[in-house]
Amino acid sequence: MRPGPYDDAIADLEDARPDLAIARDVLLARYTTFGIGGPADAMVFAHDDDQLVEVLKFCRDRGVPWFLLGGGSNLLIADAGVRGVVLRLAGDLARIDVLDDGAAIAVGAGAKFPKLTRVALDLGWPSAVGWMGTPGQVGGALKMNAGTRDGEVGEVVERVQAATADGVVSVDHAGCGFVYRNSAFPAGWVLTRADLRCDSHRTEEAPELSRRAKMLLQKRHQSQPKQRSAGSLFKNPPGDFAGRLIEAAGLKGAQEGQAAISDVHANFVVNLGGARAADVLALATRAAREVKAQFGVDLEWEVKRVGDFSA
Ligand SMILES: Cc1cc2nc3c(=O)[nH]c(=O)nc-3n(C[C@H](O)[C@H](O)[C@H](O)COP(=O)(O)OP(=O)(O)OC[C@H]3O[C@@H](n4cnc5c(N)ncnc54)[C@H](O)[C@@H]3O)c2cc1C
Repeated sequence: MRPGPYDDAIADLEDARPDLAIARDVLLARYTTFGIGGPADAMVFAHDDDQLVEVLKFCRDRGVPWFLLGGGSNLLIADAGVRGVVLRLAGDLARIDVLDDGAAIAVGAGAKFPKLTRVALDLGWPSAVGWMGTPGQVGGALKMNAGTRDGEVGEVVERVQAATADGVVSVDHAGCGFVYRNSAFPAGWVLTRADLRCDSHRTEEAPELSRRAKMLLQKRHQSQPKQRSAGSLFKNPPGDFAGRLIEAAGLKGAQEGQAAISDVHANFVVNLGGARAADVLALATRAAREVKAQFGVDLEWEVKRVGDFSA
């Protein structure tokens, strides 16, 4: 194994907490929808809030950097990987409980977002129509306020709970700061649970909602690439579409190594097989530069970049 600056600290964590599942030197490419990303020094699987608080406290006290990897569907992880600890949610943090005759759902942040979408559609929650087709975990969906124009998950959030190095905290809807493809949760928080509510739900409308959701999904499948990606690379600028601008800049189909700007949808960079994070970064930088030069518009990344890209 490569010697790293956090090896001793991670070995101490393994000794101190034999109850934690800790894997060393884990290749992250297999945990991302892009299929891109170098190794993590350690991957730690936490099953509940207490374990998370302990690990976060340990990392803070020992100066070990950490990162929470959800479903890996909105990430570009550097070829050099990620130093320190990559946290993952497991066990009870993946629960979905329907409450209050279907008007409320208590969900763990480690639950699969498509599974939550299915449950909410079956209960007749209109917002879930817009969540359909979004991969990943509930924690990532909350962090990104995932969805589409037909509904975003933030709309139904009553309260979110998080683990921090100082203990468990929670915020109400206003404190979540949901905006288009973002939220205001502080950087040191690992979201662990959410209370969702939809008082306007009508179970008898579930079949109609499912039909609409499927139809919208089919439409998107026709207009989005089939190859591996992290979804939309850039946020849509106000009043316009990032894909339209990149296409108008003449970059549809542009390629860098094994990464390409999709010729189906120009806001998707796809992995043609064996693409490196450096290739994706080079393409994205080129797209943003051309769009700025030709149309004066600054494109903002939607995909999160993680790790050291200077190598
Ligand atoms: C084919 C495809 C289609 C997509 N379509 C859509 C779409 O229609 N609408 C849409 O909004 N998005 C879409 N996306 C993007 C992506 O699926 C969403 O952003 C998703 O919500 C990310 O969730 P994740 O669990 O994969 O997060 P990750 O990619 O693992 O992480 C994203 C960010 O959230 C943070 N995070 C994850 N979990 C937690 C947690 N528990 N606590 C704190 N921080 C956390 C991570 O640290 C990171 O900063 C698409 C992606 C793909 C590949």
